[in-house]
Amino acid sequence: MLKNIDVLVVGAGLSGAVAARVLADAGKRVLIVEKRNHVGGNCYDEVDEAGILVHRYGPHLFHTDNAEAWEFMERFTPMDVYEHRVKADINGKKVSLPFSLETLYEIFPPNTASIHEDALLRNFEYGQKVTAGELLSHDEPDVRSVGQFVYDHIFKNYTMKQWDIDIKDLDVGVSARVPVYMNRDTRYFTDRFQGVPRYGYTKFFNNLLNHENIHIMLNTPAKEVFAVGENEMYFLGDKFNGIVIYTGSLDEIFDYVEDMLPYRSVNLKFETYPTKNYQEAATVNYPNNYAFTRITEFRKIHPYTNSDSTTILKEYPTAFKLGVNERYYPINNKDNQEIYENYYHRAHGVYNFYALGRLGEYRYYDMDDAITASLKLARRLVERL
Ligand code: UDP
Repeated sequence: MLKNIDVLVVGAGLSGAVAARVLADAGKRVLIVEKRNHVGGNCYDEVDEAGILVHRYGPHLFHTDNAEAWEFMERFTPMDVYEHRVKADINGKKVSLPFSLETLYEIFPPNTASIHEDALLRNFEYGQKVTAGELLSHDEPDVRSVGQFVYDHIFKNYTMKQWDIDIKDLDVGVSARVPVYMNRDTRYFTDRFQGVPRYGYTKFFNNLLNHENIHIMLNTPAKEVFAVGENEMYFLGDKFNGIVIYTGSLDEIFDYVEDMLPYRSVNLKFETYPTKNYQEAATVNYPNNYAFTRITEFRKIHPYTNSDSTTILKEYPTAFKLGVNERYYPINNKDNQEIYENYYHRAHGVYNFYALGRLGEYRYYDMDDAITASLKLARRLVERL
């Protein structure tokens, strides 16, 4: 029975689960193997002892401009409209992030703020989003000085903590995730669709995976059931001619024959306090002080609780170490991309083996991008199968 499958999906995180569902809906028999004792990957959440719904692997806020990704979520869970707001602690003052014209007025006296604002609006359209790097390298000294402030107070030290590298060596796409807004929008994301699953991500995953054609084996590292050769695959010891969608890190399944793919990880410290309000916003970033990067207060994201307490999460970035912690962020730079390409070529050489997701593709995907990539691959496979 177990052997009678069309598709083996490795990993029950967002990428694997979405692909599994699309294939199952098309009548394919899918087996998902997951090494953890739960589905949902790093989206996994649960109600803690204080009665607060917490994201066990750090905050996950769903935001997208892609109606299809949003509608996919809505097919399996009601989505509560939720617009994430983030403050940054700058010299003890909590100011709006992303940095915007609003932030200028929160930091500087009105006359100074207005000089900076004029300089920015002389050079950029109202509403435009600009990276701190663009401000820093601008022709006009007044624009550069705003860039320098943002760079020094928001990006420089945070990036050192988060990535353990100088911001100059950070992939530009990463800091561009948090641009400077030429308006007074204080939302962290400006996407058309923003929300969180009303009953949490885990419930969403349970609905997503609740299908007669999907079987799940938890506590099952891929290697216990699956092996990949030069151009053939094995499942439970026999040659496997079905399709494999692999959402783990490629170095692991190829026994680290190339260099190990580096990742950043995060140590997470949850704390519960006997109050309903701990801080000014759902997330407060601490770019310059403390060893943690940010504190997230979950009842500001999921407010429907009878609890009199609040649970917060402090994130301490650290290097990924095999067997010690979990992979969170691929570290995109030229060297690592080369390592990845080498593994990718190996993967590509194996007929019917597909790498997918943040780990499988070694890409800093947001949830909506992960869904889009997964839908694309799964639909392509449905047509072929
Ligand atoms: N960043 C920063 N200071 C901040 C917030 C973000 O320097 O206060 C930079 C940092 O390099 C970070 C990147 O912008 O890794 C992306 O931030 P985002 O909030 O998107 O990170 P995620 O929520 O994915 O961890």
